[in-house]
Amino acid sequence: MSFVENNFTVPPPITVAKFGGTSVADHAAMSRSATIIKDNPAAKVVLISACSGVTNLLVELANGLADNEQRSKRLQQLRTIHQDIIDQLAHPETVTTQVEQLISHIAKLAEQAAQKPSVQLTDQLVAHGELLSTHLFTQILNEMGASALRFDIRDVMRTDSQYGKAVPEVDTIRQLADQHLQPILKTDTIIVSQGFIGADESGVTTTLGRGGSDYSAALIAEAISAEILEIWTDVPGMYTTDPRIAANAKPIKEISFCEASEMANFGAKILHPSTLLPAVRQQIPVFVGSSKAPEQGGTWIRQSVTDAPKFRALALRCNQTMVTLTSLNMFHAYGFLAEVFRILAEYKISVDLITTSEVSVSLTLDQTDTCGGAPRLPEAAMEALSKLCRVEVEQDLCLVALIGNDLGDAPGAATQVFSRLEKYSPRMICFGASTHNLCFLVKTAESREVVQTLHQGLFE
Ligand code: ASP
Ligand code: MG
Repeated sequence: MSFVENNFTVPPPITVAKFGGTSVADHAAMSRSATIIKDNPAAKVVLISACSGVTNLLVELANGLADNEQRSKRLQQLRTIHQDIIDQLAHPETVTTQVEQLISHIAKLAEQAAQKPSVQLTDQLVAHGELLSTHLFTQILNEMGASALRFDIRDVMRTDSQYGKAVPEVDTIRQLADQHLQPILKTDTIIVSQGFIGADESGVTTTLGRGGSDYSAALIAEAISAEILEIWTDVPGMYTTDPRIAANAKPIKEISFCEASEMANFGAKILHPSTLLPAVRQQIPVFVGSSKAPEQGGTWIRQSVTDAPKFRALALRCNQTMVTLTSLNMFHAYGFLAEVFRILAEYKISVDLITTSEVSVSLTLDQTDTCGGAPRLPEAAMEALSKLCRVEVEQDLCLVALIGNDLGDAPGAATQVFSRLEKYSPRMICFGASTHNLCFLVKTAESREVVQTLHQGLFE
């Protein structure tokens, strides 16, 4: 379809839609998601995650399950998830062979991982979740009467070779999209492809990190200059905090890129933290909604919004690793922090929060790779840092972030927050670098209560 305007043919506006694991969990969920696509003629590119639970199973296999029985159990679970969907297809024969091939490939790779796991092998293995789900989703769309084509995103999603947390190469992705996706976009075909996965220059499979499908969708939206990016998940948009933590959390109808980036970065699980980078670069409005209840609407994330409240939302991010580096040499010296960060850079360790005192500096590590859990300070980095200063590592911490607008200038903002936290002992308070957030660490055991208390005080 194309629109004719003033005798020029202009392409129709294009929406890139992404469906997360729960939106493609089974046949019913896939059908609901496929209906959303069918009902929107602009939705020409669909990126999907693996069926819910599949990536976790694959990560377990990739970590190396030596016990045959344990391995077979996981493989059986994988088979069941996909077979249940196949059984409900009108034409199962169209996908059975491909699905079986992929599952036997998983079995082979899992055996290799049991002998010798590696980050490269992990990416190859976990990529199978998305390779499988896209076969099924394409078929479901076609059975609904759409004309859908399964596309291997590795032909476009070029990344570097940092397995588990590969960095996309934006310019090359655009060139490859021009070459491989644009010709299909000129037709009526709907492109169905994989989130999360990519390939390096040599064609070796990579992944963008857990939850990376959102980021994939944003990158593809950027590469094809889409007008809208839709992220479909299992909650109707963003809330003032996670409704599972505070039942009175309120939906947010519209939020700015800045605030939403802070929220995603600080643990609002609804969006992968990097998702908004490409959207901001290209000014693509992002919609987040629930594929289970599209009629409920969701959240629009845009460059500028009409309402910019002082307190917008509270986010919680668990599994924090705090590293405290202490050295008397730091006292009135120069170059100490430079040396610390040189070492961190050498080991490719990404730092999140940071606070300093006269003789010590505390920082938290970013969670960047596919394997989950609290980020670890690699042995070698630990050794290098220990030559310079005393190194203490603490875990069992969560990060609470208050997101808002002009927080730095808002009189009393900090008092409003900390006066409510007398019972708790917040640590590593960071406030001031961004006017959009105030954040601190608390013990995991009290983190939910802290969020509930603050939500009640500031939002209810
Ligand atoms: N399937 C991957 C994961 O579970 C990527 C994603 O869902 O975004 O992390
Ligand atoms: Mg996800």
